[in-house]
Amino acid sequence: MTGSGIRGAAAKNAKWPSLSRSQPPTCYIGLLDKAWTHEADNHFWLRGTMKLILLGTTGYHPNDQRHTACFMIPELGIILDAGTAMYRARKFLRTPELDVFLTHAHLDHVIGLTFLLDVLQNKNVRRVTVHGAPDKLAAVKEHLFAELLFPVKPPFEFRPLAPRVPLASGGTLTHFPLQHPGGTLGYRLDWPGHSLAYVTDTTATNNAAYLNAIAGVDVLLHECNFPDTMAEMAALTGHSVTTPVAELARNAQVGRLVLVHVDPAAEEEDPLNLEAARAIFPRTVLGYDWMEVDF
Ligand SMILES: [Zn+2]
Ligand SMILES: [Zn+2]
Repeated sequence: MTGSGIRGAAAKNAKWPSLSRSQPPTCYIGLLDKAWTHEADNHFWLRGTMKLILLGTTGYHPNDQRHTACFMIPELGIILDAGTAMYRARKFLRTPELDVFLTHAHLDHVIGLTFLLDVLQNKNVRRVTVHGAPDKLAAVKEHLFAELLFPVKPPFEFRPLAPRVPLASGGTLTHFPLQHPGGTLGYRLDWPGHSLAYVTDTTATNNAAYLNAIAGVDVLLHECNFPDTMAEMAALTGHSVTTPVAELARNAQVGRLVLVHVDPAAEEEDPLNLEAARAIFPRTVLGYDWMEVDF
């Protein structure tokens, strides 16, 4: 799917604006990267061939701009988390196989599994696998797909995560534990010449235990539910604030930082103080629904 295709889709779907008003009039992050070429990081811009689409960039509940956590690499049939944005995957689904990786079983990350019937309809997908920690998969099976809640057998296989999961195109997925009520997993995805880490629902510190696990990735997709002024609330709920996330990105020497899982109650154009984040780690952007990230 090209950037123009997404722009067109977003334009038609006016009730879900693809951009916050502080963003330039496109959702193609490559254009944002042009600003960064001044910072000698243009190799990220020049070599970008893999594409991650941010389908949902908030947590807890959707709001008028954002759906809850769901990220897709359409060319490889990979989806990270299954929040309320999952229904949007239908627009991008083009592979005969689909792998969905769950970080944990909180509803804002799994509710979209019940939308898969629609996502898959007439799509000729021969295999769908939902990967996750065994206890989280068991909870989803027992509760989300309890007959009284959802009376249709889900059209996919649940598979407990192996330590390393092979991905299409010679990639490998690895995972690491994060601190969050009930526990959650961070993911790192590596292909020759491309890498991505997804860290959500945890309280970041500048020297977090998972620093080595995300070191050097091209793109770090990290949650940042709250601004620094809400650090107490963040710690209480197992979420992150701006400064430690930016410091972690700097210390882990990642290529770029994309902030996601933004508080759905925050209505400001700049809910996380991007200037403060960029003072620490300049290559930081605020993620938004429909954003495309090349890496
Ligand atoms: Zn969440
Ligand atoms: Zn959670």
